[in-house]
Amino acid sequence: IPDNYQPDPTALAGKTILVTGASDGIGRSAAMSYAAHGATVVLLARNVEKLESVYDAIEAAGGPQPAAIPFDLAQDTEEAFIALADVIEEQLGRLDGLLLNAGILGQRRPLEQSAWNDWRDVIHLNVHSQFLLIKSLMPLLRQAPRASLVLTSSGVGRTGRAYWGAYAVSKFATEGMMQVLASETENTSDIRVNCINPGATNTAMRRAAYPAEEPDSNPSPEAIMRSYLYLMDDASVGCSGCSFNAQ
Ligand code: NDP
Repeated sequence: IPDNYQPDPTALAGKTILVTGASDGIGRSAAMSYAAHGATVVLLARNVEKLESVYDAIEAAGGPQPAAIPFDLAQDTEEAFIALADVIEEQLGRLDGLLLNAGILGQRRPLEQSAWNDWRDVIHLNVHSQFLLIKSLMPLLRQAPRASLVLTSSGVGRTGRAYWGAYAVSKFATEGMMQVLASETENTSDIRVNCINPGATNTAMRRAAYPAEEPDSNPSPEAIMRSYLYLMDDASVGCSGCSFNAQ
């Protein structure tokens, strides 16, 4: 990211951006931040009350009217994802940005003691549902003049670490999916694909992973938004196949 990058307050005006996991943590903050820079955001997560609270906060801050779609990414039929893409096309008519942020941690224990159900749930949500979202939404993204797809990685998705099990494996897969897609789209300047590793951030997931840690010792989601904005902003056109650290 260029040192002098300063997002213009209207940097994302006219863009429609879908954020998964928009009900809490980093996704909530990204959705608020995109709306504050002019984007129409589509909020996706399961918890309807929390989605409504983000929706209301965006409206109260004077952002463009968002859309909220309660959706469980753990569903495992492709039809559900195709229907989701149809709803977005019908209701919003376009998609310029896709932030794949939703994710789950799963159990923190040695691989050989990992429960099969937990392994399967984590890989399903963090890998398979990302694939299904990308597959169903790519046609809409391709219609946008300068689309940006951002996946969410982790430090343990670059170097494996004890007790991070399926979560770490799923984040390696995320980096791999980003690289494959970036390679497949490298001759088109109209779609870019990158990863962000948010780094230790004070959210429910971080607090669950490190219960003994002082929560305030990590930055808030609001404090790490620079790369999230940059990658949705046209300032990053031409940048693809990269894995960023938000911190
Ligand atoms: P949180 O646990 O705070 O939030 C996770 C979000 O994902 C929630 O909005 C939740 O919404 C949504 N979600 C979970 N399961 C589903 C589901 N089945 N269907 C739809 N949405 C779902 O996580 P963070 O904000 O901390 O993490 C965001 C991303 O950043 C994740 O990919 C995580 O792996 C990554 N990350 C986070 C780090 C950190 O320190 N916080 C460090 C490195 C990476 P709901 O419950 O309403 O469905």
